[in-house]
Amino acid sequence: MGLVKSQEVLAAEQRAREQSAMELMAQGAITVNLSPRQQLAYDGAVRYASEIDARERAHYEQLPAQIVAENQRVIADLNAGKLYLANDRGDASRTIHFASCPSVRHQVDRDLAHRFELEHAGTVEGSWHTGPGNDYVAKWPNLMTLDEVEQLRAYRACQRCNPDTKERQKYVASSPKPSKLTSVTPEHIGREYQTLAGEYLGVLESYVVNRDLIVLHCSERDYRGTHDSLITLLPKQ
Ligand SMILES: [Zn+2]
Repeated sequence: MGLVKSQEVLAAEQRAREQSAMELMAQGAITVNLSPRQQLAYDGAVRYASEIDARERAHYEQLPAQIVAENQRVIADLNAGKLYLANDRGDASRTIHFASCPSVRHQVDRDLAHRFELEHAGTVEGSWHTGPGNDYVAKWPNLMTLDEVEQLRAYRACQRCNPDTKERQKYVASSPKPSKLTSVTPEHIGREYQTLAGEYLGVLESYVVNRDLIVLHCSERDYRGTHDSLITLLPKQ
């Protein structure tokens, strides 16, 4: 004869499936007997979570004022004649845009830059917006005057906004022709490399190819870039 569960038990099981164990613990629906050490760790975790929550709230509270200040900084840069934007490309070279280029609007317009945060204020958990490397907040627009742009050792002009820089593509003079990182093969182990900016990387010891990233382990330092990044193979001695 099979065991029949009461409606009460079935409802509790359904609730348990729908709710997380943490929630049920908080409601007292699940009680766990913890050892003093476990209790200490649990309390620590709860305290840590509430500290994160407080940091989140503080961040969202000051965000509108932060955006106003950032827009003012951008406007001050533009008024100072910094009408060009230089974006890093993961190598020594940079892409130069007019500050008005549509492809950098999400950087120059700080309301747009923080739009994801504003739309998700309070709904995204964790301190994802603090610290470097998050994809949601557009990076700061690195604005420059044309003189400053021309002082860069290497750059590439954006093909969309076509800024009036002296050259479409500027490489360090007298360096051998750069090639893509994807051109590195096992035969190049032992050869010397330098960056487009002319920084000597030393002898290639090994390299790693990932889906989006290539890392060259060289004797002076490691070099990482995308499959489109450029690198200069020095001539054999
Ligand atoms: Zn552009």
